[in-house]
Amino acid sequence: MQTLPLGTEPTVVSRPTLDVDRTMVGLDRAEISARLRDVGIPEKQLKMRTSQVWHWLYYRGVKSFDNMLNVSKDMREKLAEYFTIGRPEIIEAMVSKDGTRKWLMKFPDGNEVETVFIPDEAKDRGTLCISSQVGCTLTCKFCHTGTQRLVRNLTPAEIVMQFLVARDHLGEWPTPTGGRILSSVVMMGMGEPLYNFDNIKKALKIIMDDQGIALSRRRITLSTSGVVPEMKRCGEEINVNLAISLHAVNNAVRDEIMPINKKYPLEDLLAACRDYPGAKTSRRITFEYIMLKDINDSDEDARNLVRLLKQYDIPAKVNLIPFNPWPGSNYQRSDDKQIKRFSEYIFGAGISAPIRSPRGEDILAACGQLKSESEKMRKSELLKQQKSDGVIS
Ligand code: SAH
Ligand code: SF4
Repeated sequence: MQTLPLGTEPTVVSRPTLDVDRTMVGLDRAEISARLRDVGIPEKQLKMRTSQVWHWLYYRGVKSFDNMLNVSKDMREKLAEYFTIGRPEIIEAMVSKDGTRKWLMKFPDGNEVETVFIPDEAKDRGTLCISSQVGCTLTCKFCHTGTQRLVRNLTPAEIVMQFLVARDHLGEWPTPTGGRILSSVVMMGMGEPLYNFDNIKKALKIIMDDQGIALSRRRITLSTSGVVPEMKRCGEEINVNLAISLHAVNNAVRDEIMPINKKYPLEDLLAACRDYPGAKTSRRITFEYIMLKDINDSDEDARNLVRLLKQYDIPAKVNLIPFNPWPGSNYQRSDDKQIKRFSEYIFGAGISAPIRSPRGEDILAACGQLKSESEKMRKSELLKQQKSDGVIS
């Protein structure tokens, strides 16, 4: 495993070798075949050549065509002439005292995103938290990312790259056949994944493909603030685990802290959870619940949470997240005693409700603390984007 500096000092780790227009990362098999055809690879070789490229990209994790050893020299040269498989610039790589790692990646257009790896206690497994947008159009009041204006959706290549970069740094190539260090993925970084559905779907299909990275869909969780119309599609077309950023148990409080609730209120959200394809005891829906002092953390809130989950008959688990402060935030974390009480009440009602211990706080890598400096979208563009997303009318 590569050694990285501890603490918050920014470090330039690698220079970019990514060329967005020519990268082969993020393409599906049909697109790779079409590119190979375009540069003169004979029709009858296309399928085999596509499989070779796929293998080297996603099973071996090579960063240069030169390393595709079973591909003829002629073809390697041709591929290198027309395409790239390099990585984005890593402008910061940090390791928290607790082992959490954060990478700040910069794409050639200047936009930046953060990706976080959270090892578990034994350090032999861990979860990669992937971003789906640069910033976010939603403006949840407790979330740092929400203070950043959306610049744009990430492309499939940029989403897959976050995984490849983490694997490079963890030294986990080729794809292990047994246990993996990078053992699960959560779409819980910057942005709202269901506002970037098609790109997320394409990227996750690549990550799940059994000839490459082969991460099981059971080890992938997509978190949404509640974009109700896309939830059904997510279950049907991507079929990964679902997490909901719930954070409140009545519309008045949820409207106040999560503006999307005005568009898709709790009743609609919970009905969509109940109908989520495949939701059953073996695949429970996770409800994330930030503990905000005096806002959503009373005993009555705990009772209402249990009542709602039972009323809608949703196979559920609850993740209680103590609020993580960030510079300029206006909320306080609930008292430890109250968080424990809240958790015990829910457990007592037969629903799992562990308290998530904040990870990577010293490097601002904890939930809701991510924010990059890409704030280049003009106000008018932001309004247009919010209108098309339906956040405002
Ligand atoms: N936009 C999606 C995906 C981002 S997930 C969503 O909202 O679900 C990021 C998770 O961190 C969400 O559950 C979010 O509500 C939570 N979060 C945001 N700000 C936080 C904060 N300051 N402290 C703790 N958790 C936070
Ligand atoms: Fe966006 Fe999720 Fe943050 Fe809300 S919590 S602002 S939806 S990233």
